Amino acid sequence: MGSVTPSTILARELLPWQQRILLGGFTPCTTIDWPGRCAATIFLSGCPWRCPYCHNPRLQQRQRDGLLAWDSIVAALQAGRDTLEGVVFSGGEPTADSQLAAAIGAVKALGFPVGLHTSGAYPERLAKILPLVDWVGFDLKADYASYDALTGARGSAARVTQSARQIIASGVAHEFRLTWHHEVLSEDAAVLAAHFAQHLGARRFVLQEYRTEGVADSQLAEHAPLPARLVARVRQLFADCEVRGEICGLVGELDKLDSEGANPVDKG
Ligand code: SF4
Repeated sequence: MGSVTPSTILARELLPWQQRILLGGFTPCTTIDWPGRCAATIFLSGCPWRCPYCHNPRLQQRQRDGLLAWDSIVAALQAGRDTLEGVVFSGGEPTADSQLAAAIGAVKALGFPVGLHTSGAYPERLAKILPLVDWVGFDLKADYASYDALTGARGSAARVTQSARQIIASGVAHEFRLTWHHEVLSEDAAVLAAHFAQHLGARRFVLQEYRTEGVADSQLAEHAPLPARLVARVRQLFADCEVRGEICGLVGELDKLDSEGANPVDKG
């Protein structure tokens, strides 16, 4: 019989999904990740795509952040119960994690509405997740023809099409958003992407200004303001269209919890 150590006791106390879920970061409170709400964000690691402007490149690999435990996140959510209006799952691509549904169920059991950021890379898993969530932020990347080149993944356009249609058909509140940089998408390509979203049935569309924080590809020019002409062309396509200067789902540096589970600890 093996010896019993603190780590084995902890492992016995954790449910199997809690041991397997690939936690990659946690933001205790943000007003950006679920627009209009004060929310906490749980980041999961793993993404099959490689967008050049990815703001969370360290979350692309499927690996666990060993310093972040599920029970610490639960403690932080309970500590913020009076102010938090929801919990968002982000990434990486959160639907890449087979434990996502169990984690959403656990957060729901605590009484919080749940939001989801997704790129639509896993439509089959998304179909099972949609009935569990209250809001979806859908990250569109390009028009159909340009998709695979931008994500670096063959077949991504077809997956996005299937996922987007599922989101719209589900009736779950959602927004489509597109991050624009002139070296990644031309203005015409961005308008094509907006037409793609309109064709899929999107009603609310957000143009997000590129920000350099955390970006993997340092070759991109830092300054990429949204041209007024592009904004005007996109606004013509949607009754509900917003321009956003902040990046949703940006994993922070203050993403570790102390031993009490309630306060972020600076990694630096
Ligand atoms: S931007 Fe999103 S979909 Fe693209 S590589 Fe980063 S995490 Fe993946």
